Amino acid sequence: MGLISDSTLSIGLTGGIGSGKSTVAQTLIQLGAVLIDSDAIAREIALPAGVAIAALKAEFGAEALDENGGLNRARMRELAFSDPSVKRRLEAILHPLIGIETERRAAAAGQQVRVFDVPLLVESTRWRARVNKVLVVDCSNTTQIARVTLRSGWSAEMVQAVIAQQASREKRRACADGVIHNDGITLAQLERDVTKLWRRWTR
Ligand code: ADP
Repeated sequence: MGLISDSTLSIGLTGGIGSGKSTVAQTLIQLGAVLIDSDAIAREIALPAGVAIAALKAEFGAEALDENGGLNRARMRELAFSDPSVKRRLEAILHPLIGIETERRAAAAGQQVRVFDVPLLVESTRWRARVNKVLVVDCSNTTQIARVTLRSGWSAEMVQAVIAQQASREKRRACADGVIHNDGITLAQLERDVTKLWRRWTR
């Protein structure tokens, strides 16, 4: 990558489930950022005709694929349950390809601000070194549970189980360059807060 992209702002966006991270990401896109979403890339490369399909078929055989030729995720979960090496082998194929596609999209963003939505941003020193700013969307666990149960019909226990697996609020905030406090505010206020921070970081 050349000097231009090196001097262009890269934001690492993180927040627990239901924090409002996706909502904040949409506002950042409206403000002119390019969103690079690792979960979306992971899904896309394993769709029919995705770049991971040939390697997946070579590693696991046709049973790894569904009737359309995309990755059969339910089947892979079953296989991983009875054979712990499956997850590792699957990740050994997907992770490098996700990395390549992430860098391709980052380069294609040119001088636009890049927003990286990567799981484990907080846990990964490599990722944190890759971005100029870490933006944390924060709210209470109670708010997280209220939002996700409303959005997806999950039980409070299911949301709590996901929260327990994710980085703690304290750990996230400890590596934040900016925090959006998304608790007890309207969506309009959230948008204003994100815009304020964007102006500060891009001026
Ligand atoms: P995440 O991506 O962190 O899981 P989302 O951005 O999808 O969270 O937000 C979860 C839900 O909560 C969405 O339905 C969103 O519209 C809603 N939400 C987020 N922030 C607010 C807010 N400040 N006021 C009202 N609803 C909100």
